[in-house]
This record gives sequence, C-alpha cells and structure tokens, in this order.
Amino acid sequence: MTEETYMGVPRNKIPWCPVVNYAKCNFCEGDPQCLKFCPHGVFGIDEKEKKLIVANPDNCVVFCRSCRKVCAPEALGFPSKPEVLNIIKKTRENSEEWKTIRS
Ligand code: SF4
Ligand code: SF4
Repeated sequence: MTEETYMGVPRNKIPWCPVVNYAKCNFCEGDPQCLKFCPHGVFGIDEKEKKLIVANPDNCVVFCRSCRKVCAPEALGFPSKPEVLNIIKKTRENSEEWKTIRS
C-alpha cells in the first residue's frame, strides 16, 4: 500500500480510486496505457477476460487523477472530491469523539 493513512484516516476507509467505464475502455488494444503510467500498481489485468481491472484501489494516491490524461477514450472516472473530503472529515470527527468518550 502506498499510504497507510491520509490526514490521519486509514487509507482503506477512504473511497478514492479510478473507476473504469467499460463501455468506453478499449483496453488500448492490448497495451493499457493507464497501467503503464501509474507507478503505484493500482491497475491490473484480468487475464481470463482480457480486460483492465482496478486491482489495488487503496494504492491510489488520494485525490490523484493523473492517469486520466493518458486515457484517450476518457474511460476513467473518479469519485467527487468534495464528497470524499466530507467522508474524511466525518471519519476524523467520529474518531475524535470516540477518543473523548474513552478518556
Ligand atoms: S488507458 Fe483508458 S482505454 Fe486504455 S486500458 Fe486504461 S482505461 Fe482502458
Ligand atoms: S489516480 Fe494517480 S495513483 Fe491513482 S491510479 Fe491514477 S495515476 Fe495511479
């Protein structure tokens, strides 16, 4: 995993990663550019189905969207940043509340 936590929140509680729109993804005709581009091993290949998969979503750098620029068919989507920021904020608040209750 690239980061264990982000802003003090465990990375696996943060829903940020690319989402493949299979209606648009053409697998770059067998040479997936997004997979080659991302240095964090987020993407993988389903060898049986011969298609791109998001193999390690938690390796994606929170709020990075860089791989979008190498995807000509615009097949990569991302969650809403304000919504994810809200989730991070709420998770932090809940954990602060929990600490207060316990102390
Ligand atoms: S770069 Fe775009 S079209 Fe190519 S494999 Fe990745 S998502 Fe699919
Ligand atoms: S958004 Fe950044 S870290 Fe995430 S998969 Fe794309 S290039 Fe990799």
